[in-house]
Amino acid sequence: MGESVLTGAAPFARGANGDGALACEGVPLARIADAVGTPAFVYSVNFLRERFATLSSALAGIPHRVHYSVKANDNLAVLATLRELGAGVDIVSAGELHRALRAGFTGRDIVFSGVGKTAEEIRLALEADVHFFNVESDGELELIAAVASAEGREARVALRVNPEVDVETLHHYTRTGSRGDKFGVPYDEVPALAARAVELPRVRLVGLDMHVGSQLTSLAPFERGVERMLDLLERVRAAGAPDLGWLDLGGGLGVPYAPGDAELDLEAFAALARSAAERSGLDLVIEPGRFLVANAGVLLTRVLYRKRSGGTDFVITDAGMTELMRPSHYQAYHRVEAVAPRDGGGRVDVVGPVCESGDFLAHGREIGEVEPGDLVAVHSAGAYGYVMSSNYNARRRPPEVLVDGERFAVVTRRETFDDLTRLETTEPRWEDR
Ligand SMILES: *Cc1c(COP(=O)(O)O)cnc(C)c1O
Repeated sequence: MGESVLTGAAPFARGANGDGALACEGVPLARIADAVGTPAFVYSVNFLRERFATLSSALAGIPHRVHYSVKANDNLAVLATLRELGAGVDIVSAGELHRALRAGFTGRDIVFSGVGKTAEEIRLALEADVHFFNVESDGELELIAAVASAEGREARVALRVNPEVDVETLHHYTRTGSRGDKFGVPYDEVPALAARAVELPRVRLVGLDMHVGSQLTSLAPFERGVERMLDLLERVRAAGAPDLGWLDLGGGLGVPYAPGDAELDLEAFAALARSAAERSGLDLVIEPGRFLVANAGVLLTRVLYRKRSGGTDFVITDAGMTELMRPSHYQAYHRVEAVAPRDGGGRVDVVGPVCESGDFLAHGREIGEVEPGDLVAVHSAGAYGYVMSSNYNARRRPPEVLVDGERFAVVTRRETFDDLTRLETTEPRWEDR
């Protein structure tokens, strides 16, 4: 699949069918729509493989482990693919722990992040013997120590530092490492908390961690974050932390969504990682999510109606914010194109069937002429797509399909009407207060 794979949409190209219609690897998207219906998420497994290989070769020779951020796409088949490639995972909940174990990861492959771990989640993670916890507050450190003592287990912890760097992200909702954000231990409090971790029984301080933001296409926030972490490392070592082994640089490696978008310079990132490893003397953990999966996937949807209203041309599709929340939640850009465009076509708004004005996939785009019944592909839907989908409007969540060369497989079936109501009852079993 060559060079172009690295820049984004290459697993989705025209021509495999001989008719110029869009295909995923060697499988026409129309074939998948016929087989599984729409809407559907379609992922290229070879794109995942190439992305992982690209990252691994950039980081070759640097002592590191890639812990894929499960929240970007937690499909079991995707997780199993990444496990086979040698990845570990970064999780943020007991549900993700369950998924990771089901996908065949062992505790030692798992790093547990997240700002609000419950006692129950901590206990389950200790039972699974996770590699380490990324601790986000003094309260969490104390709770981990208490649960570890009660369970008679040792908890390995890294302190997630808020490096307090100003980060430009697409939307302030994806900024995580600035002063006053809810994530991480405030920078100046880290040495004292490290000292506390060292003195707590059943707790072993094994590292420092940061995650400065998401969809970062410039190296600068990583550079500033690394400098801040290295300064802090001196102070933490001075607090007497004999078991430090890991420097976790988090995720956030940005990818192109629109044609011509800036992409993180991977070679420069690797050079920074190399210097961070050398200067710290620690092994690195990298937690990419979006980088590995975003451009592996499309959301495949069918046009239901065309309509003109108030000077706007609408394309109403059978997918919307319930399947892909990013446009309405973050004003995120996703490239949209007709799978088999007809002649003509002007600017359209692509909107979903959900009863919300914020339900849109794209505004003011040229996607190629489409009529009702035609297929449309929404690109870069492999990350933060299905995982953020919902049943709002009692919509059944779509299937997920994996493509490998000339073959495809449904790895998540479409929800049924019964699925929608299986947790509920019309006959409450009342309990007295
Ligand atoms: C979300 C998240 C990631 C992954 O972010 P991407 O932008 O998808 O790379 C990594 N680490 C932590 C702690 C996260 O919360």
